[in-house]
Amino acid sequence: MDCKEFQRMIPGFLADELDNYSLESFLTHMEKCKNCKEELTIQFLIETGIQRLEDGSTFNLTDELQTTTNDAWQRLRVRKRLLNTAFFLQIVVVAEIIAAIVLAIGLR
Ligand SMILES: [Zn+2]
Repeated sequence: MDCKEFQRMIPGFLADELDNYSLESFLTHMEKCKNCKEELTIQFLIETGIQRLEDGSTFNLTDELQTTTNDAWQRLRVRKRLLNTAFFLQIVVVAEIIAAIVLAIGLR
């Protein structure tokens, strides 16, 4: 992913609308690219900060962004695990069908 692409995806990231693949490349790019992390921090401030100011609650921007990023990684891991589980279950089902067919043939 290049920086242009990253910046185009920031609103999607903040709204948690990225798919697994995009989210992973987004987070990976952010960890490598200082400029993009800065850009994300600014957009995050605009998105979250203004809302917090309206709420009248105090916040620590760096902590909040870190939490948001950690949450995103966490979500990505969970989603991937779910995908793996779904894939594994499909294999189990196929294996059971094959076993049933073999059994049925054997019984004839
Ligand atoms: Zn970049």
